Amino acid sequence: MHDLSELTTHCIRCGFCLESCPTFVVTGNEVESPRGRIYLVRSALEGKLRWQEDVREHLDLCLGCRNCETACPSGVEYGAILELARDLIEQEKPELSKKALLASTSSPTILKTQLALGHLLPGRRIPGPIGRWFSGGEAPEADRPAPQATADFPPLDEGALPPVRGEVYLLEGCAMRVLFPRVHQATRRLLRRIGFVVREVEQGCCGSFHAHNGYLDKAREYAAELMKSMPDDLPVVVDSAGCGSTMKEYGFVREGDPAAGAFAARVKDASEFLFANGLLEALAKAPGVHERVTYHDACHLSHSQQITAAPRQLVQAIPGIEYIELPEAEMCCGSAGIYNVTQPQMARTLVERKYDNIASTGARIVAMGNPGCHAWIAQAAREHGESIGVLHTAELLEAAFVGLNAFGI
Ligand code: SF4
Ligand code: SF4
Repeated sequence: MHDLSELTTHCIRCGFCLESCPTFVVTGNEVESPRGRIYLVRSALEGKLRWQEDVREHLDLCLGCRNCETACPSGVEYGAILELARDLIEQEKPELSKKALLASTSSPTILKTQLALGHLLPGRRIPGPIGRWFSGGEAPEADRPAPQATADFPPLDEGALPPVRGEVYLLEGCAMRVLFPRVHQATRRLLRRIGFVVREVEQGCCGSFHAHNGYLDKAREYAAELMKSMPDDLPVVVDSAGCGSTMKEYGFVREGDPAAGAFAARVKDASEFLFANGLLEALAKAPGVHERVTYHDACHLSHSQQITAAPRQLVQAIPGIEYIELPEAEMCCGSAGIYNVTQPQMARTLVERKYDNIASTGARIVAMGNPGCHAWIAQAAREHGESIGVLHTAELLEAAFVGLNAFGI
C-alpha cells in the first residue's frame, strides 16, 4: 500500500536529482527541485507547513516529468509522491479552473465543439481553455493549429502483408482521438504490417489527466470503465505516452484492485509493441525516408515507462534516414498535460529551449511519442516559421512505407 509519508522517507537528500529537474535548472531554487518538494511535502505532513499557503505553488510548478526518478539512485517514487500530495491539496481546496480544464480536455465532445468554434472565429482563434492549451495561455498572433485531418493513405497491399496472427486493443484516448486521428491511422497500419488487427470497442478516457493533477478518485472511475471495455487478455496498445504511463500504473491508481495490476501488465506503448513484434524486419523492405531526423523523449515514455531504445532503434532502422541525437532529448518540453495553460511562463521557457536544441541538430523532422509534446512543439515550430516538421513516431515510421507527402511534409 502506498503511504505518502513513508514514500517521502526514501529521499536521502543526496541532490543527484537537482540538475535533472527542469524547474530547478531554470530557477536555481531549491524549493523548485525534487529534493525541495519532497521536503515541503514531508513538512506539511508533519504539520510544520500549510498545504495551500506554503506547498501548493511549488507542486503546481512541478511538471510531473519524473526526470528526477530516472536520476535518483535511491529509487524514490517521486511520481507517486506528487500525485498523492496533489490529491490531498485538491481535496482540501479544489481549484475550479483546473477542474474545468480537465473536464474539457478529457471530453471529446467539448474538445470538438471548441475546435469547431475556433474555425469560425477571426484568426481561427480557439476560445476557452483549449485555445490556451495550444498557445500556452499567451494567445500569440500566430494562427491556431487545426486538429489533424485524417490522412488519405493509399490502401494497404493485402498481398504484400503477413497473415493476421493476432488482435490488440488500441487506446483512442479523449484528446488524442480528436486532435491526432492521423496518428491512430498510422499506428493501425503499422500494426497490420506486422500481422495484428485492432479489435474495435467503445471506450472512454484513461484518467491520465486527472491522475496527474490531483483528482485520483475521478482517475479511478475512468480506469474502471476503461478496463471493463477491454476484456480478455489482448494486449492494449497505446500511442500516447501520458496515457500509457498512467495505464501501466493502474495498480497504483486502483490500489487494492487485483484486476488493475493484471490489466496494467497488458499495456504496451506502440513503439514497444511494434519493436517486439517485427517492425524492424518490415522496415528493412520499406522505401524509407531520406531526411535528417531527430527524436525527443516524451517524459512519460522515457522517465515513467523507461522506454528510450525501442523508438530510437525503429527510427534509425528507416532506410535512408540520417539520424542525429537531440541535445537534452530527455528534458521536458514544458507541455506536461495541462501545464502549458496553468504555468505558461515556465512552459514557454522550456519549449523555446527545446526548439533551440532541435534547430541545432539541423534536422528537418523531429519525432516523439506523446500528443502533448506534439502539439506544443508544433506550436513552437509554427511560431519559428515551420521549417521543422513535427511528427509522432508512428507517423514517421508509416512515412517509411508511404512517403512524407501523406503527412504534409
Ligand atoms: S536523488 Fe533521490 S534521494 Fe537524492 S535528493 Fe533527489 S529524490 Fe532525494
Ligand atoms: S517531476 Fe520534473 S519538474 Fe517535478 S521535481 Fe521531478 S524533475 Fe523536477
